Amino acid sequence: MTMHPVLVVGAGPTGLTAAFELARLGVDVRIVDRATAPSTTSRALGVQARTLELLRPRDVADAMLLESNRVYRTALHADGNRIAGIHFDGMPSEYDFILMLAQSETERLLASRAAELGVTVERGVEFVALEQDDDAVRVTLRHSGGRVEIATASYVVAADGSHSPVRKALGVSFEGRSLPQNYVLGDVHLAGAMPEDQLSIFLAANGFLAVFPMGGGRFRFMATDPDGVTGDDAEPTLADLQTLYDRTVHVPAQVHGLNWSSRFRINSRVAGTLRRGRVFLGGDAAHVHSPAGGQGMNAGIQDMINLAWKLALVLDGTATPDLLDTYEADRLPVIRALVAMTERATAVFNSTNPLAHAALTRFAPFVLSRRAVRRTAPARLGQLSATYRLGSLAAGGGGLGGLRAGDRVPDVALPAGRLYDLVNGTRPTLLLVGENPAIEAVRRDWAGVPVVRVASLADLAPAGGWLLIRPDGYVAAAGTDRDGRRLTAWLDRWLLPVLSREQTQSPLFSRK
Ligand SMILES: Cc1cc2nc3c(=O)[nH]c(=O)nc-3n(C[C@H](O)[C@H](O)[C@H](O)COP(=O)(O)OP(=O)(O)OC[C@H]3O[C@@H](n4cnc5c(N)ncnc54)[C@H](O)[C@@H]3O)c2cc1C
Repeated sequence: MTMHPVLVVGAGPTGLTAAFELARLGVDVRIVDRATAPSTTSRALGVQARTLELLRPRDVADAMLLESNRVYRTALHADGNRIAGIHFDGMPSEYDFILMLAQSETERLLASRAAELGVTVERGVEFVALEQDDDAVRVTLRHSGGRVEIATASYVVAADGSHSPVRKALGVSFEGRSLPQNYVLGDVHLAGAMPEDQLSIFLAANGFLAVFPMGGGRFRFMATDPDGVTGDDAEPTLADLQTLYDRTVHVPAQVHGLNWSSRFRINSRVAGTLRRGRVFLGGDAAHVHSPAGGQGMNAGIQDMINLAWKLALVLDGTATPDLLDTYEADRLPVIRALVAMTERATAVFNSTNPLAHAALTRFAPFVLSRRAVRRTAPARLGQLSATYRLGSLAAGGGGLGGLRAGDRVPDVALPAGRLYDLVNGTRPTLLLVGENPAIEAVRRDWAGVPVVRVASLADLAPAGGWLLIRPDGYVAAAGTDRDGRRLTAWLDRWLLPVLSREQTQSPLFSRK
């Protein structure tokens, strides 16, 4: 029986990211999905700055940029007036906007990257059950023709969506709540003066309507319908969308060309753990929340960018297996903060209490115009300020300049190219700012750790410093030439030494 290093269950954005990223890192990965064809519906639209930063050096983001629309601000309206806004074009990223791309397109591009790297999704293959011991996971798969297969894998990634059969089979809890509000979604054309570079939100005493521009005159509507004027059919009609539009939005427009509509209730839940033995949970299988702020799909993609390099290093025997525990330690605090943020935003926008509505329309301009909010809100929405400082992988990792261990390393432009293109994307890389003989000496014992030297990192870090950068673009450890012990401690703790070239070429060395 073949032993797969990694079996990924589910080929939504989370599973497809796991598949291409593991393949890029040299892992022989298998991915299955019970659906016989890719999904064709738009669902998640917003691709955030941090996701684009991570997908660019992985050769996915450029294609996404070509086929999408860009939103540079959010405008909040009430009672026929624009009352406040958030501008994204000051965000500390090359991608200072929210990219609007239908989820079906994002999935197509992720699948095409996986295919370029030699991985194709096996469709019509359903996860049924699993059992595991210390060495492997045995997974029962049912093929669409009825054949039942027992697949064996070293590790399994559960990316099988919010109802996750894998999570249920493991008995992992999914705690949280279902919110009572009923949301109406639809992709339409709008004949009217609606900006196409702005996310427009209209607040009314009886709910809100958000308009997301998809480009080419198409828009996504998302609206609450607290008093049920659109009935309860699973797919709201064009007339339903026009009714909601007319009663909430002051910009007259004719809605037409409906090509998808849906209705949903918000669930806000987080899995009790992201790891059970040799099985890891990610994406909607691990966390679901309100679509406020367009965070869900992005979080799933970033889960997998965090997990994949750890799996790859442990599988090739160059990192301690404990590294795999840091997936949950990194991601769970970030996910919990995200779920709390989307719950707060949902509570504010959904309120139908007249006093709450009056308070929101009165105070939103004041709150959103404060300098601190103008600076921090776009970076939070863009998932740029999420940090893994609290994770065990950052413990004792120190810092340099304004960066602490666990922080995102900005992908700054340097004379030799963008930082993420200079560092090695498969192993932790030691970045030296200028000459640093003391740190070079430490590194000599760690032949598997690549070194990159730059003359300056501009405002990011002072000369003479060093950053150990993780393959997912976060600081592993950092310091000055006096902090060589810190570097050794991190490498000793997490990596297993790779024999140096001198040793491997020695006649005394044998690879037995
Ligand atoms: C109507 C709607 C609107 C949404 N709007 C937004 C939005 O505006 N912004 C946002 O950020 N998010 C939105 N979301 C959420 C977003 O779509 C999800 O966060 C995203 O799809 C999660 O990706 P995933 O890969 O984790 O899970 P999914 O996309 O759910 O993929 C799971 C995959 O697992 C497969 N699978 C399930 N069970 C099995 C099994 N037993 N065996 C094998 N395969 C299996 C499924 O076929 C599916 O392909 C929306 C979702 C819906 C439904």
